[in-house]
Amino acid sequence: MKTNMEVPFLNLNKQYLVIKSEIDAAIHTVLDSSNYIKGNQVKEFEDAFAEYVQAKYCIGVGNGTDALSVSLIAYGIKPGDEVITVPNTFIATVEAIVAIGATPVLADINPRTYSLDPDTIASLITEKTKAIIPVHLYGIPCDMETIRKVADKHHLKVIYDAAQAHGALYNGKSIAQYGDATTYSFYPGKNLGAYGDGGAIVTNDAELADRIRMLADHGRKEKYLHEMFGYNSRLDTLQAAVLKIKLQHLDKWNARRKEIAALYKKELDGVLQVTIPEAPAYADPVWHLFVIRTPDRDNLQVYLKGNGIQTGIHYPVPIPLQPVGQGLKHNCDINTLTEIGNSILSIPMCPEMTDEMVCYVAENIKDYFA
Ligand SMILES: *Cc1c(COP(=O)(O)O)cnc(C)c1O
Repeated sequence: MKTNMEVPFLNLNKQYLVIKSEIDAAIHTVLDSSNYIKGNQVKEFEDAFAEYVQAKYCIGVGNGTDALSVSLIAYGIKPGDEVITVPNTFIATVEAIVAIGATPVLADINPRTYSLDPDTIASLITEKTKAIIPVHLYGIPCDMETIRKVADKHHLKVIYDAAQAHGALYNGKSIAQYGDATTYSFYPGKNLGAYGDGGAIVTNDAELADRIRMLADHGRKEKYLHEMFGYNSRLDTLQAAVLKIKLQHLDKWNARRKEIAALYKKELDGVLQVTIPEAPAYADPVWHLFVIRTPDRDNLQVYLKGNGIQTGIHYPVPIPLQPVGQGLKHNCDINTLTEIGNSILSIPMCPEMTDEMVCYVAENIKDYFA
């Protein structure tokens, strides 16, 4: 008889309690300064994060969706322009394109890696196509060198959505070294999460960094000198202070995610009804999510819930089949996308899980199929 356990999908409270003294002190420093916008901690975090992802510039913004929109605008992408992205991402990736009046076009994915299939881009390119936004979904890096070749051939900018991939490597190097710009979200549940909303853009392009910084702060460089109409999308001081502390723990947390992924793989190896995620040789993933696949997904999810195990589905309905996705141009294999949406299951994954919890989840999956 196995003992019953509660396995939450995420445990942000457990994480907070471990770093409570550092976080509380950092928050109090901000409270004492009362510099809630543009306090020193913002620049300190931006510098630390740029160094962490090995990029020259980092600009903090209000959230990961804005990070994409502002990057597109900074590249001069305007209404009528087309931007290619993927059909199986969180809606924000597509929303960011629509938000600036540009037109999203959805290219197909590789059904094994779940990321953009670079071979499918060319057939979608028109004279209006200006950029590609591939997504490092689940924390697994895309096929970045192939994407770069296609983009260069067609003179397209590549903006990577790394909202799920803080710290991921491609061929041993930070993913931020490959895109024209790379965007991050610090939504609380991400690998590096704030205590509210937050986001950032990193780039090695000095001019782009300059424009993004202006755009995200009312189009200004000086307090009342506005060079363009921009936005109000800033990373606030409290969030930056929290992120600066949490960044110091990120490698340790990502390493724990990798251990958990390895343990899941070991425990679930040989369960015929379950496909475990495999990372391509070039990818060193940070396992934002651990997504298995099984044709009996809905029943398995109910069974796990009954045994105290929380799971999620990222994402159940591909964007071309969403109410908002109906008219979008795409070249996706809808049957395959539907099959993926119906068979994927994100099982608990967070650095706070114990080995016992991981084994308990695997045990329950095995019992279900036994
Ligand atoms: C979380 C997420 C976003 C949006 O980030 P927000 O900070 O919530 O705006 C964008 N793309 C992907 C792939 C995400 O997972």
